[in-house]
Amino acid sequence: MTDHRTLRGPASAKAPASTGAVRISGLSKRYAMAGKAMTVLDDINLSIRPGEFVSIVGPSGCGKSTLLRLIVGLDTDYDGEIRLDDTRVAGTGLERGLVFQDHRLFPWMTVAKNVEVALLNQKLPRDRREKVIAEHLALVGLSDFGDAYPHQLSGGMAQRAAIARALTNEPKVLALDEPLGALDALTRVKVQAELQRIWMEAGTTMIMVTHDVDEALFLGDRVVVMSPRPGRIARIVDVDLPHPRDRASPLLHRLKDEILAELTREPRGDDGTLVAFPGRPRG
Ligand code: ADP
Ligand code: MG
Repeated sequence: MTDHRTLRGPASAKAPASTGAVRISGLSKRYAMAGKAMTVLDDINLSIRPGEFVSIVGPSGCGKSTLLRLIVGLDTDYDGEIRLDDTRVAGTGLERGLVFQDHRLFPWMTVAKNVEVALLNQKLPRDRREKVIAEHLALVGLSDFGDAYPHQLSGGMAQRAAIARALTNEPKVLALDEPLGALDALTRVKVQAELQRIWMEAGTTMIMVTHDVDEALFLGDRVVVMSPRPGRIARIVDVDLPHPRDRASPLLHRLKDEILAELTREPRGDDGTLVAFPGRPRG
């Protein structure tokens, strides 16, 4: 059971987190496809600091969702090691949460009930439980919507409710798999700012997969750029700018160009030659 530390309060008061370090070493993952083993992730090494925000970008199919599933323990069949603080990940646990592109709220329950569901495994007294729910609705800016049903929320609000639900157990690490991917462009920018604020207040380590390089750079302390077939870390980009961030920062623009260049680079074999694809002239 978690101790429900009080949320950290204003962003300016943020103390460095002491737990929530993720250490991934020599991680490889294979799937059996039509009787053949296919390597999906190959020798992933990544150390994430407590309270860090790490963004992951990479082409479709390079293993980003697989990596998040392994980190939260939904899949324990892998080579190498994933550690959260001093413990090897070997199954799911309340200290690791996952948010998906679709909010996955129960449509027949109010927002408050949806958040409460996450607390079912904890024997909290009723008044304590209600306080935790209220705190987390406030954290995501939905205090006035506890009695609303999911269909009464906008897409951005529903995603914020899903984030509140994921944070109620005070996970040390929250994995987010393209959490804003279904939102329209304007809403998306607003929820990015909300997510930045939520992360700064909660102090939770966050690992977010996104297709949007601007989003990855706006939020991430670091951006992990992956390459496909098999999924490997091509580059890790430090985003050395304090939060909250200014989107107009020239550094973000320069780093965006670098990341896009990496993502659109011609795939090369181990010997540096261009890899030929069927139906595409070599060279
Ligand atoms: P991404 O999230 O980067 O788009 P995924 O992690 O979803 O990529 O998938 C990586 C690769 O693993 C893809 O080629 C996909 O087809 C394959 N894959 C994913 N899940 C399974 C599975 N359960 N069985 C077999 N192959 C899978
Ligand atoms: Mg995916």
